[in-house]
Amino acid sequence: MDCLFCRIIRGDIASKKVYEDTETFVFEDIKPQAPTHVLVIPKKHIVGVKEAKLEDAEIIGKLHLVAAKIARDRKIESGYRTVFNVGPGAGQSVFHLHLHLLGGRPLTWPPG
Ligand code: AMP
Ligand code: ZN
Repeated sequence: MDCLFCRIIRGDIASKKVYEDTETFVFEDIKPQAPTHVLVIPKKHIVGVKEAKLEDAEIIGKLHLVAAKIARDRKIESGYRTVFNVGPGAGQSVFHLHLHLLGGRPLTWPPG
């Protein structure tokens, strides 16, 4: 499949892998917006959270738990953010579900 993140999972495109298990893959964002900025993605190709099905509920929850583990490992638990950008109007540019994990600096609210 000609999907950038599916190709990263397969290793056809190089990435800085942070973590992998049977269902998820985590790698450094190529254009980091914070000292920690990683992408937590399902190995299953899901277009985005609004296209996800009820059967995807468990993996969507797991993405958050994997992000929490990485935040713990990186000692950024005093304040981090997990984000799905949903649709082009919110900045979604890759149409394979990905949870951004950002931390390691003060994060203001509201986001831009
Ligand atoms: P979004 O804009 O929410 O769809 O997020 C896509 C993210 O993927 C952006 O933060 C990009 O910097 C990141 N990205 C795009 N191509 C790559 C790549 N080859 N390796 C790592 N991250 C990438
Ligand atoms: Zn994909």
